Amino acid sequence: MMIYEVAIVGAGPIGIELAVALKEANISTVHFEAGQIGATIEWYAPGTTFFSSSDRISICGVPLETPNQAKATREEYLRYLRSVVRQFDLKIRTYDPVTGISKEKDYFKLISAGGETSAKRVVLAIGDMQLPNLLDIPGEDLPYVSHYFRDPHTYFGKKVLIVGGKNSAAEAAIRLYRIGCDVTLSYHAAELNFERIKFWIAPELRSLIASKSIKFLGDSKLKEIADHKAIFTVQGKESAYQYDFVLLLTGYCQDPSLFEKFGIELVGDTKIPVYDPETMETNIPEIFIAGTACAGSQVKSHKEFIETTHVHVNRIVGRITGVRSNASEKHYLLSES
Ligand SMILES: Cc1cc2nc3c(=O)[nH]c(=O)nc-3n(C[C@H](O)[C@H](O)[C@H](O)COP(=O)(O)OP(=O)(O)OC[C@H]3O[C@@H](n4cnc5c(N)ncnc54)[C@H](O)[C@@H]3O)c2cc1C
Repeated sequence: MMIYEVAIVGAGPIGIELAVALKEANISTVHFEAGQIGATIEWYAPGTTFFSSSDRISICGVPLETPNQAKATREEYLRYLRSVVRQFDLKIRTYDPVTGISKEKDYFKLISAGGETSAKRVVLAIGDMQLPNLLDIPGEDLPYVSHYFRDPHTYFGKKVLIVGGKNSAAEAAIRLYRIGCDVTLSYHAAELNFERIKFWIAPELRSLIASKSIKFLGDSKLKEIADHKAIFTVQGKESAYQYDFVLLLTGYCQDPSLFEKFGIELVGDTKIPVYDPETMETNIPEIFIAGTACAGSQVKSHKEFIETTHVHVNRIVGRITGVRSNASEKHYLLSES
């Protein structure tokens, strides 16, 4: 029976970066991915631009170049991830979600869609955005209601309600207005907090709301959706409006179920996994955490991104091999300052 040294769960940017580092250290690795590589980025709307500059989201020392030196789009970054995987000839078991684990004498048995696999150590690089934040209202599961902004073309010429007030909602509102949709933005507070919207998006949204090109429903709470009708409380009064599509862009949270199955301790309302920041080892010996998975659900503010979690790779490889590269870590810490 083959017992791998390390099993990596998740092939987002940080899982891929770790796989390359372990390969370069000659450590045998098996790598699982529930969907396609970069599955979290795959569900961004087409043409979405990263807010991080390319050097901060590039991995494995491979430069990420864009045609006009601007920040990468979703498509450019997915192409980049594919090329890194091919360049380093990584073998990733895509569409093979890990669903469980058992502890044998000195290794783990991982259960995935493809069967059972044995490894001495496991790294969970599963991200922090597996589930949408649900409003828990009737009609949330209707076919014209979604927590994901897809291709703007889908909504062309239609009346669209967007619920939310941060970057995803702001960007969707502008893009849909620009392709001729009738857009309403509903937000729970009386005013949007433009300080919390990216500085290159905020002025345009502010001016489109001021000119009433985008309708803004402040102090509004969506209560129900039925027969394309959205029923709100707006400024304390009940109102109902017709829409073709409803986009509930109220953020995403982590699915803690795999951590729970693995016995990893989760702390607080946002269920932050317990780990040693020096080694990224969790409370279960030989089970590690990498990437934004370490953050729990980033509900109020996002502190962990691709750019802040590159350093996990060096810490995990250092713990496994006993050799930690200060130079590699310094590079990322300097670029974050
Ligand atoms: C619109 C938008 C724009 C963003 N822009 C930026 C930005 O500019 N800069 C930035 O740093 N971040 C940005 N982010 C956040 C960014 O997507 C994450 O920081 C990044 O994807 C985290 O990388 P990761 O490798 O830690 O996890 P992820 O990319 O989330 O990868 C985790 C992977 O694990 C897989 N997985 C989960 N569970 C299992 C399982 N049980 N078995 C096997 N595989 C599993 C998932 O399918 C996924 O592919 C943005 C997010 C959104 C929504």
